[in-house]
Parts: sequence; structure tokens; C-alpha cells
Amino acid sequence: MSDLQELVIGSTRIVALRDGELSLPKEILLNVDDDTSTRISDENNKLTLNNVNAYLIFKDDKTLLVDAGCRDLFGPSCGFVHDEIAKANVKPEDITDIFFTHLHPDHVAGAIDKDGKAMFPNAAVKVLEDELNFWSKDDFEDVEINGKNFADLNKSVIKAYKDKVQTLKPNQEIISGVFSVALPGHTPGHSGFRIDDQNKSFVQMGDVLHAPNLQFADPNISVLFDIDLENGMKSRKKVFDMVCTDKIICSGGHMLEPKFGYLDKMGNGYKFISEI
Ligand SMILES: [Zn+2]
Repeated sequence: MSDLQELVIGSTRIVALRDGELSLPKEILLNVDDDTSTRISDENNKLTLNNVNAYLIFKDDKTLLVDAGCRDLFGPSCGFVHDEIAKANVKPEDITDIFFTHLHPDHVAGAIDKDGKAMFPNAAVKVLEDELNFWSKDDFEDVEINGKNFADLNKSVIKAYKDKVQTLKPNQEIISGVFSVALPGHTPGHSGFRIDDQNKSFVQMGDVLHAPNLQFADPNISVLFDIDLENGMKSRKKVFDMVCTDKIICSGGHMLEPKFGYLDKMGNGYKFISEI
């Protein structure tokens, strides 16, 4: 028995994969009120802890991998996505499709090895058109966040999968019954995905949140990684409101455990309620 968390939506099975965990430095959080700032310092790493997640989706004869973890780029606490895939009894060559929610290193690096070779030899790669266009430009500066090193990694990933790379529009089908959801702001083509099957719905909200212990309760809190802060906040609030109002099971690229649950209104924000 594996310890992987899974969710069944009609005829679609979703398995959450934990690539690793990271505690974010307080300095990368924005719009934090004084009270919360004191709590973050007092409770040290606990409040800024996040997981780096990927997902396997099983539907008909397709095995879709959503995001691919960070490989060795973020230190020893991350880079376990391939072990997780093995725990789910899936071999790299079984993966028929990969969907990248966006092209940040913690979502794409595990798709290639250190020499730039594709780790999933039979997979078609799908990503929103706006996202691929953004990172394909040549004028990135040599800065740490959202700079040339991120763009270069993306170019290597795209090169590794070459003619198997396909671009999608928002709300387009990734595999049967799994649709992209545009959530622009974190990056220009940042997205999640949605499944509606037999009167049950699931929305993966991508990277609208990086510190689940803080950002559900206060959706105004943003992170420095957001390329467009204002739109990122708009997307976060919009998708939180939607999954709460419509009582949709949700998850996200940096959710802690449990990975699957509902949002309930709490004060000016939300509370996460486990589905399991
Ligand atoms: Zn991320």
C-alpha cells in the first residue's frame, strides 16, 4: 500500500505526488499584516511551510502527469517526484501526457535529467500558449527570480520534448474530461485544471497560493515570485470564491497535507476543510 493521497471524480482518478517541502523565507511574502508577521517569526518555519506537488490523472487509456517537480534545484528536501510516480505503480514510459501549470523550475525541472534528456519518453507536453510564448523570449535579465536562468531551463525542457509540445488555450481539454483553467498573474499563462465527472467537480488551483497556512485566511498575502502581483491576487480571490461558492473539491501546486478539500468562508478569508 502506498501512502499517496488520491481522489476519485466520476471515472477519473487523481493521485497527488509530493515532490518535497520547503519553508519560504518571510522576506518573500508581501502584504503581511503586523500580527501575522509576528506570528511567522514566533512560529518560525511552520507558517511558511509548503509542499511541492505534482499529480497523476488516470482516465481511460491516458496517464497524465501534471507538473514534474524540481529535481535537484531546490536542495535535499525536494526532488522526489520520480519515487512518488513509482509508488503509484507507474513507469516513466507509461506517462502519455504532461501538463505544466506554468513554467517555473519547481514544476518543470523534473521533466528532464541534468543532461537535458526527456525523463518521460512517450509523453506529449501541454502548456498554455501565453506561458510558452512568454518564456520563449530572448530578453530575460540575469536575475534570480523570473530571469534568464528560469527561461533557459524552460528552453531546455521544450527542446527535450520538441515536436511533442502542444500549446493550449484556456478551457481547452488536456486529456478527455480534464480542462485547463487560466489563472494569470503568478506567470502570464499560469493555470490550473478542472474535472467535472458524474456530478462531482475538482479544481486544481495551480500556484495561486504558496503558503497555505497563511493565504487561505488572508488572500491578500502575495509572494515575490508573482510576475504580476495585482492579477495574481485577482486570480487567487476569484478561484477561492468559486470553489467555496460552488463547493468544489480543490488542491494546489503547493498544498500541504491533506491535499484535497473544500474551502469554507472564515472572516475575510477561508478555512480549508479536508475531503478525507
Ligand atoms: Zn510553484
